[in-house]
Amino acid sequence: MGKPLSVLLVEDSADDAELLELELLRGGFAPSIRRVETGDEMRSALIATSSWDVVLSDYHLPTFSAEAALATLQESGRDLPFIIMSGVVRAEDAVNLLKRGAHDFLDKASLARLVPAIEREIRDAHERVQRRQAEERVRVLSLATEQSPVSVVITDREGVIGYVNPKFEKATGYSARESVGRPIDFIHRKDGGEETYRAMWATIRSGQEWRGEFCNQRRDGQLFWEYATVSPLEDANGAITNFVAVKEDITVRRSYEERLLRQANYDELTGLPNRLLMLDRLEQGIAAAHRRNISTALLYIDLDRFKNVNDSLGHAAGDQLLKEAALRLADCIREGDTLARMGGDEFVIILPGVDDGIAVQKVADRIVDVFSPPFSIVGQDHFVTGSIGISMFPNDAADGQVLLRNAELSMYKAKEQGRGRYQFFTRELNERMQERLLLESQLRGAAGRGELRLDYQPLYDLRINAPVGMEALVRWRRPPDTLLQPGSFIGLAEEVGLIGEIGDWVVATACKEAFGLFNGRRNGLRVAVNVSPRQLQGGAFGDWVRRQLDETGLSPDQLELEITESVLMDDSPETGMTLRKLCDLGVRLSIDDFGTGYSSLGYLQRYPFDTLKIDRSFVVGAMTDPNTARLVETIVTMAHGLGLETVGEGVETAEQLDFLRGCKCDLVQGFLLGRPMTPMALDGQLG
Ligand code: C2E
Ligand code: MG
Ligand code: MG
Repeated sequence: MGKPLSVLLVEDSADDAELLELELLRGGFAPSIRRVETGDEMRSALIATSSWDVVLSDYHLPTFSAEAALATLQESGRDLPFIIMSGVVRAEDAVNLLKRGAHDFLDKASLARLVPAIEREIRDAHERVQRRQAEERVRVLSLATEQSPVSVVITDREGVIGYVNPKFEKATGYSARESVGRPIDFIHRKDGGEETYRAMWATIRSGQEWRGEFCNQRRDGQLFWEYATVSPLEDANGAITNFVAVKEDITVRRSYEERLLRQANYDELTGLPNRLLMLDRLEQGIAAAHRRNISTALLYIDLDRFKNVNDSLGHAAGDQLLKEAALRLADCIREGDTLARMGGDEFVIILPGVDDGIAVQKVADRIVDVFSPPFSIVGQDHFVTGSIGISMFPNDAADGQVLLRNAELSMYKAKEQGRGRYQFFTRELNERMQERLLLESQLRGAAGRGELRLDYQPLYDLRINAPVGMEALVRWRRPPDTLLQPGSFIGLAEEVGLIGEIGDWVVATACKEAFGLFNGRRNGLRVAVNVSPRQLQGGAFGDWVRRQLDETGLSPDQLELEITESVLMDDSPETGMTLRKLCDLGVRLSIDDFGTGYSSLGYLQRYPFDTLKIDRSFVVGAMTDPNTARLVETIVTMAHGLGLETVGEGVETAEQLDFLRGCKCDLVQGFLLGRPMTPMALDGQLG
């Protein structure tokens, strides 16, 4: 079988057509020939079939001609090989037709050239089609590139720009004329990103596609971010000839991400690094110090009495103070140091790479100095100092967490010593901390193991000169065998969340033991129980107390709960609700250690208190200082005015007792009248 060949033959002679067919068969074709003699016939043949391979045309026909046939073919829009087969023709006529688009000219008398000519022309026609398709593709591609919503840049092998699309011009502000001939990276931001560019070149030079983000600079200097895909273009042999970069503007997304990053790492109020970023820098500082065999110092700074400003002037004033404090602190450090805000009124300074304590001490001195002028907040001067704790790597700690904790611990020590000072971490502080940790673990579950007990100190009524009750004071028999006073463990219990467990035990035990002690005795006796402000915050305390009263049978007015003055400053709704609930139960409420906090007598009206206990320090002070003496008198008078009973605490001498009696103080409590004692010992003293 030959190759199929579909021939449109323009010819009036059937004999010639037959000769042609034979020639084609001989040449290895399997021809199918359609012979036409007129323009109309040819037109309909062209319309009827689309699969013509070639048009062969006689030069001269009775009513048609090669010239007209060529025109007919061209009108139809088909691109087919057109070969003229003829007898003798004038050379200029032949040339004329070739010029018009005929592909070849053959002599009918010698058809030897026929088959190769057809083969060649078919091949050429095929190539023409492909070329046209390729051209069309290029046209569409270039339109797409020209009108693309993303930037397109094409460079040569060296990265020199050969083409940029209009979007690129718009995005960068550089025209195509300004861009072509320059290296592709001319718009890259000059600082930073070198690593990225290096990675990109390495990837694309190795023939691979690279994707990534660049920061570029517009002609007007503005920076913008692009997500780029850069691909090498290869020739038929696989050699790289060009690079094409397609780039999308992602500035909006980047700025959003950067904002998120900022929020995660910086404090919004002061703009300083936050705790998270500080920890990161601390790790870096420690790693660098370790490598270089030097020290890193950490300063933990807490503003003294910040809470006062915040509470009395409001949060806006507090914020203003914090910002000002941040500025002053920033003034104390040098490049490379880190100043961070830990939250609240706490700041941290990291000094990476210090030689010795002297350099650190200089910074600490400077901090103390910058805090000495007053802060002008809402038109008023406030003196706010900073207490500073300092710890150093590697001397005081082997890692960041411990370094931070030790600095914080030292800060508390500085505060204890009188605020506005600094304190280096010491071995002794370390031991104290170890001891604290041990204490905490031992205190956990102490109530359940029966290690707690209550002593009772008599409350003496000056109006009837008789004891009218007692205050329950907790003690802890700490293993192996030490009796601890509440001063050594209640604070810790409050801090580490153990006060609920201990406080519940105290209330339950005091109710039970008091019921036993009071049983059968006259009314008016009461047991006072100390309650930590923390216990009032949960919201469940009121119900717990009622259950204890129900279970033990103690009458509510025989229970008095002592709460320290700080509760007055706490306006949390939960505390208020708990206090009112207790009052509704008929339980008495007492304000303990009055005068040691910052509250005024006016605060007492907020909550339904029955008793006010004047702190021992006032009772002691009144003996030597007339001002304090007058203050105690005023407190008693005002308390009476508010309907409160008064108790003078810590009475050790007859002189103190006389003074309080003179002030019309109602009750007293103190070693003079009775030390804290066991329930059994107390039993003999009551009534
Ligand atoms: P507070 O409520 O003011 O209790 C009075 C403290 O003063 C008791 O110390 C008592 O022993 C001591 N004291 C009494 N009279 C005199 C005196 O004449 N001279 C001197 N120098 N001291 C006197 P204590 O037992 O060490 O208790 C200390 C504080 O611990 C109590 O102060 C109270 O705030 C707290 N506390 C005691 N028991 C509990 C408790 O069960 N729960 C809570 N949350 N706190 C408690
Ligand atoms: Mg008390
Ligand atoms: Mg007290």
